[in-house]
Amino acid sequence: MRCQPGRLIEHRSLSSLLRFLPEQTRLAEREAGPMRMHLGWKMALSRGLRCCQRVLSWIPVLIITLVVLWSYYAYVFELCIVTLVNPLEKVAYLLVFHIVFVLFAWTYWKSIFTPPSQPTKKFLLSYADKERYDNEERPDAQKQILSEAAKRLPVYTRTGSGGIRFCDRCQVIKPDRCHHCSVCGMCVLKMDHHCPWVNNCVGFSNYKFFLLFLGYSLLYCTYIAATVFKYFLLFWVGTLENSRSKFHILFLLFVSVMFFVSLLFLFGYHCWLVSRNRSTLEAFSPPVFHNGPDKNAFHLGIRRNLQQVFGMNKNLWFIPVESSLGDGLSFPMRSSQCESRNPLLGSEDQWEDDGMEEDNEAYHGSSSISIEMET
Ligand SMILES: [Zn+2]
Ligand SMILES: [Zn+2]
Repeated sequence: MRCQPGRLIEHRSLSSLLRFLPEQTRLAEREAGPMRMHLGWKMALSRGLRCCQRVLSWIPVLIITLVVLWSYYAYVFELCIVTLVNPLEKVAYLLVFHIVFVLFAWTYWKSIFTPPSQPTKKFLLSYADKERYDNEERPDAQKQILSEAAKRLPVYTRTGSGGIRFCDRCQVIKPDRCHHCSVCGMCVLKMDHHCPWVNNCVGFSNYKFFLLFLGYSLLYCTYIAATVFKYFLLFWVGTLENSRSKFHILFLLFVSVMFFVSLLFLFGYHCWLVSRNRSTLEAFSPPVFHNGPDKNAFHLGIRRNLQQVFGMNKNLWFIPVESSLGDGLSFPMRSSQCESRNPLLGSEDQWEDDGMEEDNEAYHGSSSISIEMET
């Protein structure tokens, strides 16, 4: 069998190519080795930093917990057991103190450990939309893809430029009043703010608990200051003997008054926000709707605003159990036209109608709605 010259050349170039390829691969691998190591180190470092950040973020909670534990010891042991003489007074002081303490500790626990609510799966882009969105480089076309995808959703709020609010990090269409928290690394429903003192995002899932926590903290400080004041004066004028308890009682009064003053402002501000049905973020940057910003879009009147946060059953208002109205994904709005379109109050099917865009436009013309805030 004779070998044709052309075939031989082909064969030779193929074998040299085959020899060449593994050589190239080896070279590439040799070069990629240090790069991969560098990347590995970088990833390990960022993981370590994240871990440190997570540990450090518990420091404010630890400080509060230590102060509360000390106040418990100082009040129960140093004041009630060591200093008080009258047994009736002892029992009454301890009983009321423990009721307030339990409510305060319970609401603090719930504020810390209630996980923030996130948008549901229906706010994620479909696979096809996601692919179209990722492959599209023109912002206008991306905006169009989002606005088509949002037609089936109860979303009224818009970005400052009038587009649908979309979180690139979570790859989700943001429901009304939802914002991305850079500390938690997630989109949080009806986000109010990220609170370092509870090391948690305050939002739809725990706003009621946070408010009660502020309220019961104030009550705790007030009760301690009011009951300790008499003994503070007795120590001051020298009626009671100098002892270790004196210093605990002096500090109890000082710390409780200090916390009372700072909490009073915060609690007052949140009461005002609840009465207006606004989140802290919305107070700083009003939600934007089709026809512009509207800071009062969710204001339904004080009674209904309170019901939105605390629920319909007044017996549950002051107990830290879930009772807020709605699902955190959509909210009733001021105009009756909006309410009739709200899935909380009407049929969700209407959002799937083909003629939705025109309807939305008509609606937006009468009211308004939408925010763009990144925290
Ligand atoms: Zn997000
Ligand atoms: Zn957060």
